[in-house]
Amino acid sequence: MIKKLTIFGVGLIGGSLAMALKKANYCETVVGCSRSAESLQKAQQLGVIDDYTLDPVAAVKGADMILLAVPMGAMGSVLESIKGQIDTDAVVTDAGSAKASVVAAARSVFGDIPSFFVPAHPIAGREKSGVEAAVVDLYVDHKVIVTPLPETDEAAEQRVIAMWQAAGAEVESMAVEKHDHVLAYSLVDTLSHSEVSEAIFRYAAGGFRDFTRIASSNPVMWRDICLENREAILQSIEAFQANLQVLHQQVAEADSTGIMDTFSHAKSVRDDFMEKQP
Ligand code: NAD
Repeated sequence: MIKKLTIFGVGLIGGSLAMALKKANYCETVVGCSRSAESLQKAQQLGVIDDYTLDPVAAVKGADMILLAVPMGAMGSVLESIKGQIDTDAVVTDAGSAKASVVAAARSVFGDIPSFFVPAHPIAGREKSGVEAAVVDLYVDHKVIVTPLPETDEAAEQRVIAMWQAAGAEVESMAVEKHDHVLAYSLVDTLSHSEVSEAIFRYAAGGFRDFTRIASSNPVMWRDICLENREAILQSIEAFQANLQVLHQQVAEADSTGIMDTFSHAKSVRDDFMEKQP
């Protein structure tokens, strides 16, 4: 049971967890915290959260579970805003899609990994974002990967696992590195589980075939490449993740200028490259 759950970023991911935990009677109070009151008001109206505040310090006061469900790029600043304010029995966890960068953010904010910090990643989502898209059964029969660090307290990890299980998820623990290095395969894996995977593979021809060719090569070779070049590969994955997050936000916000900038930049880089080819 959770007494007070504080969620930073009550969007699709944070909102869906709040709804599921309330339904399961696993949580007495859910408090939301974000940068603007608008989405929090909406979340309260929808009954997703009980209360909200824009003040991170007030938000974590008395909380025994703190979830970071903000965009990847905002994890560090949220941690910074609650540093030194977290109750001694509280657990801090996150829902970010990549783990190495969140762990790096925690390390840089706290100087070391605190024992109460349990990184995690729910493998569930929808094409929509924001609290309006939150649904009570988002995590039912979906996997959540918990990536504890050597510094992580075992009891804190168990509390995070129990929380996700209460939301209906199946929880698996693995090392941060293992979680992150599978990304190269995950696109094909995601598509192969799609109901229309056969059609995608059959008709998408050209671009898709080239783009995914790498996933048909030897998994052992890629495993070794990943393990031997972890630092560089993690940097590339994080850069990729950050770029995707920008595009995700531009699309979510219907940011027409931003989307144009992203694709114009990509086009000019490729055009330049092609011009230089012999
Ligand atoms: P979302 O846009 O639906 O919600 C994000 C929320 O964070 C919004 O309410 C926004 O107002 C708030 N926010 C933004 N910056 C903030 C800040 N600095 N401080 C406080 N709040 C802030 O996004 P989402 O899909 O719920 O994603 C949240 C996190 O979950 C991300 O880290 C993402 O990587 C991860 N995740 C997403 C999915 C998915 O499919 N959408 C799946 C697994 C994990």
